[in-house]
Amino acid sequence: MTAPVAFLKPGREKAVRRRHPWIFSGAVERLQGEPVAGATVDVLDSSGHFVARGAYSPASQIRLRVWTLDSRENVDAEFFRRRLARAVELRRRLGLLGEGRACRLVFAESDGLPGLIVDRYASELVCQFLSAGAEYWRDTIVGLLLELCAPASIYERSEASARKKEGLASRHGVLHGSPAPDVEVAMGDLRLIVNVAGGQKTGAYLDQQVNRMRVASYAAGARVLDAFCYSGAFAIASLRQGGAAATLVDSSAEALALAERQAVANGVAHLCRFEVGNAFETLRALRDAGERFDLVVLDPPKFVHSAEQLNTGSRGYKDVNMLGLALARPGGVLATFSCSGHVDRPLFQKIVAGAALDVGREAQILEVLSQPPDHPIALEFPEAEYLKGFILRVL
Ligand code: SAH
Repeated sequence: MTAPVAFLKPGREKAVRRRHPWIFSGAVERLQGEPVAGATVDVLDSSGHFVARGAYSPASQIRLRVWTLDSRENVDAEFFRRRLARAVELRRRLGLLGEGRACRLVFAESDGLPGLIVDRYASELVCQFLSAGAEYWRDTIVGLLLELCAPASIYERSEASARKKEGLASRHGVLHGSPAPDVEVAMGDLRLIVNVAGGQKTGAYLDQQVNRMRVASYAAGARVLDAFCYSGAFAIASLRQGGAAATLVDSSAEALALAERQAVANGVAHLCRFEVGNAFETLRALRDAGERFDLVVLDPPKFVHSAEQLNTGSRGYKDVNMLGLALARPGGVLATFSCSGHVDRPLFQKIVAGAALDVGREAQILEVLSQPPDHPIALEFPEAEYLKGFILRVL
């Protein structure tokens, strides 16, 4: 039996040879053999020369995801051992693997493992298998994670919308051991309470770990507004750095209950006010009531999921930034974020500038924020860059 082969249309091998890991359905001329979903396929150019070896995703527009460009490299357990070890080594070098710490251990394409996310919360791992290829190698990957990381437990949260596009049903559950209902992890001097089974995403927003410290450095004596707060980590970090009081807003009552427990664990609950509600409405009401803050944080969920949503999503960012800018006292600080990959940094800056213009406030960029080094961006894969932020002084 010969390996399945995908032939590309003429010229369509160029992006792959530049190390872009996605091959779209329109680039594939024909398939030879009958690969099952997730199986490894050799990708050849139109003249039959080897281009790559990748995972076959029959249901997705992204038909093939590249594992390797090296014709001599087999995709087998040893391949995954090398890639996982390389990912773990980065986090070790970053000093993120200490006891009780948390980080993103594997960041998909940027770690050479398309479709695979692994987060570590102290001795517990949480995995997301988000592509047919990652799904195909699931048992191998779980076995290797046990070997390489010796976690107390591994939990699966393969629920993201990405799975639907791959034709995969959502799935969650224990893969190894028995995860504790609450894991406590240390982030800087912050104690986070993480529920890997029931929390949002894999239990926490690890991508804001560094940014919280940057934002909190402006907090001395500040009245803080943390909008879209989830478990309140921006507010709590700010209060730990000398903030005077914080208002935490989220539409999820569950998130705010967690925020309250986390505020207690960090000894700052007496400084917090919790507001369950739609941030657009709650912020408008605060603005109309004349409330002003020294430090405003806007960390909304992804508003733009596809290119078609760019206009409505941009409007959402503009509206929320108009409210955030209006709520900052003159001379106050606004930390504003977008986690929509489709909104690039120049566009995000333009949206925020438009918002400032409309509310008649001037602002200066003090710091440009991105995602932390445990969410690396493969040089040839700009799609991995999704988190953008600005710390602004609002005049
Ligand atoms: N800042 C958080 C992460 C925020 S994620 C942190 O540092 O961990 C986005 C949050 O926005 C989620 O908790 C979600 O429940 C909340 N959310 C989504 N839509 C909202 C809305 N319209 N109003 C208020 N909160 C909303």
